[in-house]
Amino acid sequence: MMSTASDAAPASAAGFTTLKKSPRMPVVFLGHGSPMNAIEDNAWRRSWQSLGQSFGTGGSHPQPQLILCVSAHWLTRGWHLTAMTQPRTIHDFGGFPQALFDQQYPAPGAPAAAGEIAKSVSSPPIGLDDREWGLDHGAWAVLKPMFPAAAIPVLQLSMDYSRPPAEHFAVGQQLAKLRDYGVLIVGSGNIVHNLRAMQWGAGPDKAYDWAKEFDDKVASQIASGNLGELQKFQSMGQTATLAHPTHEHYLPLLYTAGAVGPGDKPRFFNTDFQGASIAMRSVIWS
Ligand code: ZN
Repeated sequence: MMSTASDAAPASAAGFTTLKKSPRMPVVFLGHGSPMNAIEDNAWRRSWQSLGQSFGTGGSHPQPQLILCVSAHWLTRGWHLTAMTQPRTIHDFGGFPQALFDQQYPAPGAPAAAGEIAKSVSSPPIGLDDREWGLDHGAWAVLKPMFPAAAIPVLQLSMDYSRPPAEHFAVGQQLAKLRDYGVLIVGSGNIVHNLRAMQWGAGPDKAYDWAKEFDDKVASQIASGNLGELQKFQSMGQTATLAHPTHEHYLPLLYTAGAVGPGDKPRFFNTDFQGASIAMRSVIWS
């Protein structure tokens, strides 16, 4: 058997002292859509609430020790992980009612765990951010309905948008081991996301042909377990460009897909559209 320097490292197999070994956690990708979904009582938000209730005592999934969220809304040069004791709630949007700006999600951070997790990713290097970021609405808009008590520590991982899709997928693969240490990995973006084409009045069953086509293709790749294919979304040409004029909302899907293991099965929910151009499709692998 080949041996490497990291194989020789002491402590638990994965080197975590701040996280306890656990039954394997699921991996979740959530389509978040409009920031208003954080406070509006709609079917999407209700499904986030019931998803949250499926964790812990009496639920079908273990209670997370920690949540690691990859949101479409934190793009950086290189990769960074939040490492402050108390991440602030960031209201990174404009033109919405005061009620949305009044939202807070005071989940604690976990600086020591952040340090160990960053170290456990061999490439690319993951920097620790103890002052800049916090929790943006890609994170708190879904986590607040899921876990309203805000008692589980949350880390956010940024994405380097300048890097190719395969590198994002590869980071997800390296995060997979965290699932055995009580970490719930949540990707928050949208499988189709074109704000300019959005029709605010359109019902959830309405979608552009290109939006349906792209969403269908991604759904069939997920359903068939061909997750590596998700990295090649740009090969869909014009359909991909319409679905993602910029693709920061797609990238979180690659982190979650990368963290999926051979025994996991996907389950879809929120499989409809917001404003005809935003796919709300979400998936939990367990
Ligand atoms: Zn968004």
